Amino acid sequence: MSVRTFSNPAGNERCLGYACPICGSSVFTFLWEVEGARFHRCCGCGHLQQYPVPVQEELSLRYGEEYLSYELSNEEAFFSLMAKALDDVGFSSLTASRGLAGGRFLDIGCATGRLIEHLRKHGWRAEGVEVCSPTARYGIEHRGVPISISTLEQAAFGDQAFQVVHASHLIEHLSDPVAFLQEAHRILDNRGLLVLTTPNSAGLQAKLFGSGWRSVIPDHIHLFGRKNFLTLLRSNDFSPLSWKTWGGIAKGLVSETIKRPVDRFAKLSGLGDVMIVLSEKR
Ligand SMILES: [Zn+2]
Repeated sequence: MSVRTFSNPAGNERCLGYACPICGSSVFTFLWEVEGARFHRCCGCGHLQQYPVPVQEELSLRYGEEYLSYELSNEEAFFSLMAKALDDVGFSSLTASRGLAGGRFLDIGCATGRLIEHLRKHGWRAEGVEVCSPTARYGIEHRGVPISISTLEQAAFGDQAFQVVHASHLIEHLSDPVAFLQEAHRILDNRGLLVLTTPNSAGLQAKLFGSGWRSVIPDHIHLFGRKNFLTLLRSNDFSPLSWKTWGGIAKGLVSETIKRPVDRFAKLSGLGDVMIVLSEKR
């Protein structure tokens, strides 16, 4: 019988590896394992991310028919949230005052193209990028909107092609958010606008629920806190012009009389569950 080499059980030691996209540190503390995904916190800036980081090409293969039915059953709810968030951040007034309205608009991770359809009706030259083939095909066939079935990088748009680049609930799914921001920067016109929506890991719900927070799921590789997210944008040559957070406490957890003031407090203090940031290309 062979004798196994001595080992202690696996512990919660800090891990060396992938550099943090916010501060560049490669020292992380292991926090939680959730459905096989291992979440770590950066010791330099507190950024929350998975490690090891899955390869993007393989990650994209996760999204298939199931994602299409999820999108279809939530389509109108997601669209009205997106429209409200754009309103909150002053999108229409800003684009109108800068003469950008009706310009070229790219929606990355556009799902079934609901926002693109809406914008095209309002005069924008809007188009999308979507890695999930059945979902993109639905948009192309049922809505007649232009969608490239690929990642942003594979779509290979020209330099400074767009006045606005928008991505809602996308950046947290990516292996390399810095590469994504660099590509968004390249395809944006001078002083073009980047609008990103993503969960706020510095929000009230994230703090309350820890590993039970609804955004701690295997599909979310990076979970940004509001301050860290603004730092990431600035260090990639974007100037944040306006941001908002919303969502204080999940529906059904507390009574409406408690939920309403908590939601208002979260919104006013930047502790909402989801954030939208409108930035300008520098
Ligand atoms: Zn960091």
